[in-house]
Amino acid sequence: MIRDHFRVLVVNLSSGQKSIAAIDGRDKVAGGSGLAAMLFEKYGFLDRPWNDPRQPLIFAIGPLTGYFPLMSKTVCAFKSPYHDQYAESHGGGRSAMSLRFADFDGLVITGRAKSGSALIVGSRHIEIKDIHYLWGTDLHVAGKTLRRMFPGAGHRTILRIGPAGERQSPMACITADTYRHFGRLGGGGVMGSKNLKAIMVHGDAAFPLPEGGEYVKVFEKVHADMTSTGMMSKYHNLGTPGNVKGLNDIKSLPIRNLQATADPAVAGITGERFAEVALLRNAACAGCPVGCIHIGFQRERFQEENRYLYRQIAYDFELIFAVGSMLGIMDCFEVLKLIDVAEKMGLDVISPGVSLAWATEALAKGIITTKETIVPLAFGNSSVYADALQYLAYGTNEFYQLLSSGTLKAAERYGGGDFACVLGQEMAGYATGRAFFVSQALGLRHSHLDAGGYSYDQKHTGDNVEDVVKFLVEDEKKRCFITSMVACLFARGVYRDEVLGNCLKSIGYGGLADNMDSVAGEIQRLRWRMRVGSGFRPENVSIPKRFSEVTNRRGPVDRDSLEALKAAYGKRILELAKDSGTEEGTAAP
Ligand code: SF4
Repeated sequence: MIRDHFRVLVVNLSSGQKSIAAIDGRDKVAGGSGLAAMLFEKYGFLDRPWNDPRQPLIFAIGPLTGYFPLMSKTVCAFKSPYHDQYAESHGGGRSAMSLRFADFDGLVITGRAKSGSALIVGSRHIEIKDIHYLWGTDLHVAGKTLRRMFPGAGHRTILRIGPAGERQSPMACITADTYRHFGRLGGGGVMGSKNLKAIMVHGDAAFPLPEGGEYVKVFEKVHADMTSTGMMSKYHNLGTPGNVKGLNDIKSLPIRNLQATADPAVAGITGERFAEVALLRNAACAGCPVGCIHIGFQRERFQEENRYLYRQIAYDFELIFAVGSMLGIMDCFEVLKLIDVAEKMGLDVISPGVSLAWATEALAKGIITTKETIVPLAFGNSSVYADALQYLAYGTNEFYQLLSSGTLKAAERYGGGDFACVLGQEMAGYATGRAFFVSQALGLRHSHLDAGGYSYDQKHTGDNVEDVVKFLVEDEKKRCFITSMVACLFARGVYRDEVLGNCLKSIGYGGLADNMDSVAGEIQRLRWRMRVGSGFRPENVSIPKRFSEVTNRRGPVDRDSLEALKAAYGKRILELAKDSGTEEGTAAP
């Protein structure tokens, strides 16, 4: 249903109070990232700690969800346990479509339940249910039980946390359905702090599609671009794991804690190798005809019965990098085994993989001992990493508790900060050079998806700082609008400005379509106001020495030029946070 306002469900877990708010601002912030930031401005507290029960956990979808393909993401916003600042994390699965068909643009959860609970949301039914008996269960057990308790398919999503989230770990993710995640910056820890084990959304309403031929025409064009041109096929075929070989070939794949950027042994974990020996099938988020989710298998044997079964485990490039090349694990099935352990524990895979790579090097250098690591971490040994992932999830000793708060926190205590592969949070798998390192270090989500720094590194050779800053700021602004539509970023080649404008107009959001650039700018500034207002200071983010020791195809990354870019981009971010976007001038964050 087309509305000028946002329809937002607000639930307080402490009091049990539920209300539906009609909130203006569609023409200003669109939805998704913009709506999430606006809701945090309204319901959040910049100056209170992340685990204050009054802090909101926010989910927001966009105006095109349910109308066009790949408008499949939900934006989750919260104050992060990782750095106690405003954060965003994006997840797919059936989450966005379920919220759309439950007839909500956003969900705001505040308070703290008395015991382990589930929030059940439908268009006619909202309930907070005591499920304390599931507290302590891993993701697999919780998922199986929750699916039996709340049967249904189609527009029904189950978001849940595992033991890491219950422990409020900054590395805990929220798992959406089975194969998608709100991965980074500790959204799972926020759910844990609210005693919220699961959220079920039943999309049990229906709404008519827009009348007239324009919508059908635009839809058919978008659908054809997605399915019958080559624009999206790479995501379905090898998928992002195809990057393993590509990055290794250009000496940009982080290997063994970024001590190397290429290694012939990587042949054992390329996308091609996974497809040959381990790929079982593809899956897709709701409303996506592409299906980029690659699901591999791991065979298990029940010895006493001499029976075998296989487990299905989703893989993609970031996961293969984090618990594969970064840990020196060069076998597909060993990588799948580690992904499965992290998955069961409800851990984001990237940060644990990268932090264990640091711990392995720290152990080899004698900075820490097996008194801290419990098991003798060694590159290439998947068995010890399987144990260590569980220690990280449960916070088994003081070392793992610190490490799961972030590699730099452990390095502050034990030393070894120079070789911590942290760019705001543990790095994503692109050692492409200066633009990427700075883009992730200062990006709002500390993600490779904040802006295309990795792509800039590969396409440009110039050293001009102003050019790079201009690219990062403009590219981030464009992505802000796309993520406010909640389009999957893989579809950004299809959803160019003109196409997005046509989509919006065809369903009645003409005002938004006519002002996309200014709305994108407003969203960008709003997000930075939230981030800087909650304590982000670019000058406090360091880029460890390892990033200027690394050599990729262009040779070593020059430290001075890295620092110059970081200073210039940081300055621009602070200007964005101060800029009110009006002619009157500036507003303090
Ligand atoms: S391309 Fe992949 S991540 Fe994007 S919507 Fe489709 S299945 Fe989901």
